[in-house]
Amino acid sequence: MVRSTATIYVGGPAGPAQVKIGSVADCLFCGIAAGEIPADQVRESPRTLAFRDINPQAPVHVLVIPREHYPDLASLAEAGDGLMAEVAAQAHLVASAEGVAETGYRIVFNTGPEGGQTVGHAHAHVLGGRQMTWPPG
Ligand code: AMP
Ligand code: ZN
Repeated sequence: MVRSTATIYVGGPAGPAQVKIGSVADCLFCGIAAGEIPADQVRESPRTLAFRDINPQAPVHVLVIPREHYPDLASLAEAGDGLMAEVAAQAHLVASAEGVAETGYRIVFNTGPEGGQTVGHAHAHVLGGRQMTWPPG
């Protein structure tokens, strides 16, 4: 069910139809962006929101989301207009504010089922405050 039809793009020359909808009623992160679902917000910018992950995997674990609904990294990257750069810049600002920018941190976009994506609204994980390991699980 669509909450807002303010922005809908359908189709694309490069492949299967790409659909982007401003806000989706049954989307958890759209609900957080709309203020309908509570979240521990740490930062915001005109087009993004950052809040703590409810199940942190590191001492610092913050999610940065676009306020508008993009299902995954691919659709966010195709959005243009600097939105992807805004998400990345905000992720770095979160790391700075959380005191891990100097020691290092990890940005993760889980994408698709095998990528471990469980919420279908694009988001960057900002992880820090401990030594990260490689390969990731
Ligand atoms: P992913 O599995 O990459 O799609 O990431 C989704 C993330 O959202 C997981 O790390 C969850 O712990 C987190 N999450 C789920 N529900 C909430 C919520 N209500 N508030 C904050 N984080 C959440
Ligand atoms: Zn959404």
